[in-house]
Amino acid sequence: MEKSRDRIQQLKKKRPKYGEILEFYQKVKEAQAQAKASLIIDPITLKKEWKELLSKEGFSLIQKEDFPLDVEASAKLFQTLCKIGKDANPHMAEQVEKIEEALNNKKIDLKNLLKEGGKEQRVEQVANELGLDGKVFSFLIQNSIKPSIEAGMEQLRSELDPETWLKGYCPVCGSLPSLSLLKEEVGKRYLLCSYCGYQWRIDRLFCPYCNNQEQGSLQYFYGEREEAYRIDLCDKCHQYIKTIDYRNLEESDPFLEDIATLHLDLLASQKGYKRPIPNPWTS
Ligand SMILES: [Zn+2]
Ligand SMILES: [Zn+2]
Repeated sequence: MEKSRDRIQQLKKKRPKYGEILEFYQKVKEAQAQAKASLIIDPITLKKEWKELLSKEGFSLIQKEDFPLDVEASAKLFQTLCKIGKDANPHMAEQVEKIEEALNNKKIDLKNLLKEGGKEQRVEQVANELGLDGKVFSFLIQNSIKPSIEAGMEQLRSELDPETWLKGYCPVCGSLPSLSLLKEEVGKRYLLCSYCGYQWRIDRLFCPYCNNQEQGSLQYFYGEREEAYRIDLCDKCHQYIKTIDYRNLEESDPFLEDIATLHLDLLASQKGYKRPIPNPWTS
Protein backbone atom coordinates (compact mmCIF):
# COMPACT_ATOMS: atom_id res chain seq x y z
CA MET A 1 0.00 0.00 0.00
CA GLU A 2 2.83 2.36 0.82
CA LYS A 3 4.48 1.73 -2.51
CA SER A 4 1.21 2.48 -4.20
CA ARG A 5 0.89 5.73 -2.24
CA ASP A 6 4.35 6.84 -3.40
CA ARG A 7 3.51 6.00 -6.99
CA ILE A 8 0.29 8.01 -6.75
CA GLN A 9 2.29 11.02 -5.55
CA GLN A 10 4.69 10.63 -8.48
CA LEU A 11 1.88 10.34 -10.99
CA LYS A 12 0.01 13.29 -9.54
CA LYS A 13 3.10 15.43 -9.97
CA LYS A 14 3.60 14.26 -13.52
CA ARG A 15 -0.04 14.55 -14.57
CA PRO A 16 -1.87 16.93 -12.23
CA LYS A 17 -5.11 16.66 -14.17
CA TYR A 18 -5.49 13.09 -12.93
CA GLY A 19 -5.01 14.16 -9.31
CA GLU A 20 -8.62 13.92 -8.26
CA ILE A 21 -9.24 10.49 -9.72
CA LEU A 22 -5.94 9.14 -8.39
CA GLU A 23 -6.84 10.28 -4.91
CA PHE A 24 -10.21 8.61 -5.19
CA TYR A 25 -8.52 5.41 -6.36
CA GLN A 26 -6.18 5.49 -3.39
CA LYS A 27 -9.04 5.87 -0.90
CA VAL A 28 -10.98 3.00 -2.44
CA LYS A 29 -7.90 0.75 -2.49
CA GLU A 30 -7.17 1.48 1.16
CA ALA A 31 -10.74 0.67 2.17
CA GLN A 32 -10.52 -2.58 0.20
CA ALA A 33 -7.21 -3.53 1.77
CA GLN A 34 -8.72 -2.96 5.19
CA ALA A 35 -11.72 -5.15 4.34
CA LYS A 36 -9.47 -7.84 2.95
CA ALA A 37 -7.52 -8.13 6.17
CA SER A 38 -10.48 -9.56 8.11
CA LEU A 39 -12.33 -11.34 5.35
CA ILE A 40 -14.04 -14.67 5.98
CA ILE A 41 -14.83 -16.66 2.88
CA ASP A 42 -15.65 -20.32 2.34
CA PRO A 43 -13.04 -22.52 0.73
CA ILE A 44 -13.71 -23.31 -2.92
CA THR A 45 -13.92 -27.03 -3.52
CA LEU A 46 -13.08 -27.89 -7.09
CA LYS A 47 -14.59 -30.96 -8.65
CA LYS A 48 -12.25 -33.20 -10.59
CA GLU A 49 -14.34 -32.82 -13.74
CA TRP A 50 -13.84 -29.09 -13.68
CA LYS A 51 -10.11 -29.40 -14.01
CA GLU A 52 -10.56 -31.88 -16.82
CA LEU A 53 -12.91 -29.50 -18.60
CA LEU A 54 -10.32 -26.79 -18.16
CA SER A 55 -7.53 -28.72 -19.83
CA LYS A 56 -9.64 -30.51 -22.46
CA GLU A 57 -12.31 -28.01 -23.41
CA GLY A 58 -10.79 -24.74 -22.28
CA PHE A 59 -13.54 -24.00 -19.74
CA SER A 60 -12.60 -21.68 -16.92
CA LEU A 61 -12.31 -23.28 -13.44
CA ILE A 62 -15.34 -21.46 -12.09
CA GLN A 63 -17.82 -18.82 -13.21
CA LYS A 64 -18.05 -15.28 -11.99
CA GLU A 65 -21.04 -16.03 -9.77
CA ASP A 66 -19.30 -19.04 -8.16
CA PHE A 67 -16.87 -16.99 -6.08
CA PRO A 68 -17.68 -17.32 -2.36
CA LEU A 69 -18.33 -13.90 -0.83
CA ASP A 70 -18.13 -12.43 2.62
CA VAL A 71 -21.45 -10.64 2.34
CA GLU A 72 -21.20 -8.88 5.71
CA ALA A 73 -17.78 -7.47 4.89
CA SER A 74 -18.93 -6.51 1.38
CA ALA A 75 -21.96 -4.66 2.75
CA LYS A 76 -19.76 -2.80 5.21
CA LEU A 77 -17.32 -1.92 2.46
CA PHE A 78 -20.22 -0.70 0.32
CA GLN A 79 -21.12 1.82 3.03
CA THR A 80 -17.50 2.97 3.26
CA LEU A 81 -17.24 3.36 -0.51
CA CYS A 82 -20.44 5.40 -0.48
CA LYS A 83 -18.83 7.75 2.03
CA ILE A 84 -15.71 8.04 -0.11
CA GLY A 85 -17.86 8.61 -3.18
CA LYS A 86 -19.61 11.51 -1.52
CA ASP A 87 -16.36 13.47 -1.45
CA ALA A 88 -15.19 12.35 -4.87
CA ASN A 89 -17.21 14.61 -7.19
CA PRO A 90 -20.66 16.20 -7.37
CA HIS A 91 -22.18 13.55 -9.65
CA MET A 92 -21.04 10.71 -7.42
CA ALA A 93 -22.23 12.61 -4.34
CA GLU A 94 -25.68 13.01 -5.86
CA GLN A 95 -25.85 9.33 -6.76
CA VAL A 96 -24.72 8.20 -3.32
CA GLU A 97 -27.41 10.35 -1.74
CA LYS A 98 -30.04 8.61 -3.85
CA ILE A 99 -28.59 5.20 -3.00
CA GLU A 100 -28.57 5.92 0.72
CA GLU A 101 -32.15 7.10 0.56
CA ALA A 102 -33.17 3.90 -1.22
CA LEU A 103 -31.30 1.84 1.36
CA ASN A 104 -33.05 3.64 4.21
CA ASN A 105 -36.43 3.09 2.56
CA LYS A 106 -35.56 -0.58 2.04
CA LYS A 107 -35.85 -0.20 -1.70
CA ILE A 108 -32.51 -1.90 -2.17
CA ASP A 109 -31.87 -5.33 -0.71
CA LEU A 110 -28.14 -4.76 -0.57
CA LYS A 111 -27.06 -8.06 0.93
CA ASN A 112 -29.06 -10.06 -1.57
CA LEU A 113 -27.67 -8.04 -4.42
CA LEU A 114 -24.15 -8.62 -3.16
CA LYS A 115 -24.88 -12.29 -2.56
CA GLU A 116 -25.65 -12.71 -6.24
CA GLY A 117 -22.11 -11.62 -6.90
CA GLY A 118 -23.25 -8.32 -8.27
CA LYS A 119 -24.73 -9.88 -11.38
CA GLU A 120 -24.57 -7.14 -13.97
CA GLN A 121 -28.13 -7.58 -15.17
CA ARG A 122 -29.56 -7.49 -11.66
CA VAL A 123 -27.53 -4.44 -10.73
CA GLU A 124 -28.62 -2.69 -13.90
CA GLN A 125 -32.24 -3.60 -13.25
CA VAL A 126 -32.17 -2.18 -9.72
CA ALA A 127 -30.42 0.97 -10.98
CA ASN A 128 -33.11 1.43 -13.64
CA GLU A 129 -35.95 0.94 -11.18
CA LEU A 130 -34.53 3.55 -8.85
CA GLY A 131 -33.42 5.99 -11.53
CA LEU A 132 -29.76 5.61 -10.59
CA ASP A 133 -26.71 5.99 -12.81
CA GLY A 134 -26.08 2.30 -13.49
CA LYS A 135 -22.35 2.81 -13.96
CA VAL A 136 -21.90 4.41 -10.55
CA PHE A 137 -24.07 1.85 -8.80
CA SER A 138 -22.33 -1.05 -10.50
CA PHE A 139 -18.92 0.43 -9.70
CA LEU A 140 -19.81 0.58 -5.99
CA ILE A 141 -21.20 -2.96 -5.95
CA GLN A 142 -18.30 -4.47 -7.87
CA ASN A 143 -15.70 -2.75 -5.72
CA SER A 144 -17.46 -3.92 -2.56
CA ILE A 145 -17.16 -7.57 -3.52
CA LYS A 146 -13.69 -7.21 -5.01
CA PRO A 147 -11.75 -8.26 -1.87
CA SER A 148 -13.75 -11.51 -1.74
CA ILE A 149 -13.24 -12.15 -5.45
CA GLU A 150 -9.50 -11.61 -5.19
CA ALA A 151 -9.28 -13.87 -2.14
CA GLY A 152 -11.15 -16.56 -4.08
CA MET A 153 -8.77 -16.20 -6.99
CA GLU A 154 -5.80 -16.57 -4.63
CA GLN A 155 -7.26 -19.88 -3.45
CA LEU A 156 -7.33 -21.19 -7.01
CA ARG A 157 -3.96 -19.89 -8.10
CA SER A 158 -2.11 -23.10 -7.29
CA GLU A 159 -4.48 -25.12 -9.50
CA LEU A 160 -3.23 -23.40 -12.63
CA ASP A 161 -0.09 -22.84 -14.62
CA PRO A 162 -0.13 -19.22 -15.79
CA GLU A 163 2.48 -19.94 -18.46
CA THR A 164 0.52 -22.48 -20.49
CA TRP A 165 -3.07 -21.25 -20.77
CA LEU A 166 -2.45 -18.89 -23.73
CA LYS A 167 -6.09 -17.97 -24.31
CA GLY A 168 -7.84 -14.61 -24.50
CA TYR A 169 -10.00 -15.18 -21.40
CA CYS A 170 -9.23 -15.87 -17.76
CA PRO A 171 -8.67 -19.55 -16.80
CA VAL A 172 -10.02 -18.86 -13.31
CA CYS A 173 -13.33 -17.13 -14.06
CA GLY A 174 -13.67 -16.85 -17.85
CA SER A 175 -13.72 -13.04 -17.94
CA LEU A 176 -11.96 -10.91 -20.52
CA PRO A 177 -8.72 -9.11 -19.71
CA SER A 178 -8.68 -5.38 -19.08
CA LEU A 179 -4.94 -4.85 -19.56
CA SER A 180 -1.88 -6.56 -20.91
CA LEU A 181 1.56 -6.50 -19.30
CA LEU A 182 5.07 -6.96 -20.64
CA LYS A 183 7.51 -8.40 -18.15
CA GLU A 184 11.12 -9.49 -17.83
CA GLU A 185 13.85 -8.48 -20.21
CA VAL A 186 12.52 -10.62 -23.03
CA GLY A 187 9.12 -8.97 -22.73
CA LYS A 188 6.95 -11.95 -21.83
CA ARG A 189 3.36 -10.88 -22.32
CA TYR A 190 0.60 -11.45 -19.76
CA LEU A 191 -3.09 -10.62 -19.62
CA LEU A 192 -4.77 -9.30 -16.49
CA CYS A 193 -8.31 -10.48 -15.71
CA SER A 194 -10.81 -7.64 -15.43
CA TYR A 195 -12.82 -9.51 -12.80
CA CYS A 196 -10.60 -11.58 -10.49
CA GLY A 197 -7.16 -10.08 -11.15
CA TYR A 198 -5.46 -13.31 -12.27
CA GLN A 199 -2.56 -12.95 -14.71
CA TRP A 200 -1.68 -15.44 -17.41
CA ARG A 201 0.81 -15.71 -20.24
CA ILE A 202 -0.12 -14.94 -23.82
CA ASP A 203 1.63 -14.69 -27.20
CA ARG A 204 3.15 -11.35 -28.09
CA LEU A 205 1.17 -11.21 -31.32
CA PHE A 206 -2.38 -11.90 -30.26
CA CYS A 207 -5.64 -10.00 -29.89
CA PRO A 208 -7.41 -11.42 -26.81
CA TYR A 209 -10.76 -10.10 -28.01
CA CYS A 210 -10.94 -11.88 -31.39
CA ASN A 211 -7.95 -14.28 -31.25
CA ASN A 212 -6.32 -12.60 -34.23
CA GLN A 213 -2.65 -13.59 -34.63
CA GLU A 214 -1.85 -12.10 -38.03
CA GLN A 215 1.11 -9.79 -37.93
CA GLY A 216 -0.29 -7.56 -40.69
CA SER A 217 -3.43 -6.61 -38.79
CA LEU A 218 -1.93 -6.11 -35.35
CA GLN A 219 -0.13 -2.85 -34.62
CA TYR A 220 0.67 -0.66 -31.66
CA PHE A 221 1.70 2.82 -30.65
CA TYR A 222 3.46 4.17 -27.59
CA GLY A 223 2.58 7.30 -25.68
CA GLU A 224 4.77 10.28 -26.56
CA ARG A 225 7.86 10.12 -24.34
CA GLU A 226 6.14 7.28 -22.49
CA GLU A 227 7.85 4.03 -23.44
CA ALA A 228 6.12 2.21 -20.59
CA TYR A 229 2.64 2.54 -22.06
CA ARG A 230 1.51 1.01 -25.29
CA ILE A 231 -1.79 0.66 -27.08
CA ASP A 232 -2.17 -2.62 -28.98
CA LEU A 233 -4.59 -2.22 -31.86
CA CYS A 234 -6.35 -4.98 -33.76
CA ASP A 235 -7.49 -4.20 -37.31
CA LYS A 236 -9.66 -7.28 -37.45
CA CYS A 237 -12.07 -6.44 -34.62
CA HIS A 238 -11.14 -2.72 -34.37
CA GLN A 239 -10.60 -3.04 -30.65
CA TYR A 240 -7.54 -2.40 -28.51
CA ILE A 241 -5.93 -3.34 -25.24
CA LYS A 242 -3.60 -1.15 -23.24
CA THR A 243 -0.23 -2.65 -22.43
CA ILE A 244 1.92 -1.64 -19.50
CA ASP A 245 5.53 -2.30 -20.39
CA TYR A 246 7.30 -3.18 -17.15
CA ARG A 247 10.62 -3.31 -18.95
CA ASN A 248 10.47 0.47 -18.82
CA LEU A 249 8.77 0.91 -15.49
CA GLU A 250 9.34 -0.13 -11.91
CA GLU A 251 6.81 -2.66 -10.72
CA SER A 252 3.56 -0.93 -9.79
CA ASP A 253 -0.19 -1.44 -9.68
CA PRO A 254 -1.27 -1.78 -13.34
CA PHE A 255 -4.72 -0.31 -12.68
CA LEU A 256 -3.06 2.79 -11.33
CA GLU A 257 -0.98 3.11 -14.49
CA ASP A 258 -4.15 2.62 -16.51
CA ILE A 259 -5.83 5.60 -14.85
CA ALA A 260 -2.76 7.79 -15.35
CA THR A 261 -2.77 7.17 -19.11
CA LEU A 262 -6.33 8.02 -20.08
CA HIS A 263 -4.99 10.29 -22.80
CA LEU A 264 -3.87 7.17 -24.67
CA ASP A 265 -7.42 5.79 -24.59
CA LEU A 266 -8.58 9.05 -26.10
CA LEU A 267 -6.01 8.72 -28.89
CA ALA A 268 -7.04 5.14 -29.59
CA SER A 269 -10.70 6.10 -29.76
CA GLN A 270 -9.89 9.00 -32.09
CA LYS A 271 -8.23 6.46 -34.36
CA GLY A 272 -11.51 4.54 -34.39
CA TYR A 273 -10.73 1.68 -32.00
CA LYS A 274 -12.89 0.53 -29.11
CA ARG A 275 -11.89 -0.76 -25.70
CA PRO A 276 -14.06 -3.80 -24.86
CA ILE A 277 -13.35 -3.59 -21.14
CA PRO A 278 -13.36 0.10 -20.30
CA ASN A 279 -11.36 1.54 -17.46
CA PRO A 280 -13.90 1.22 -14.60
CA TRP A 281 -12.59 4.31 -12.88
CA THR A 282 -13.47 6.67 -15.64
CA SER A 283 -16.45 5.34 -17.51
ZN1 LIG B 1 -10.62 -14.00 -13.78
ZN1 LIG C 1 -9.12 -8.34 -32.45
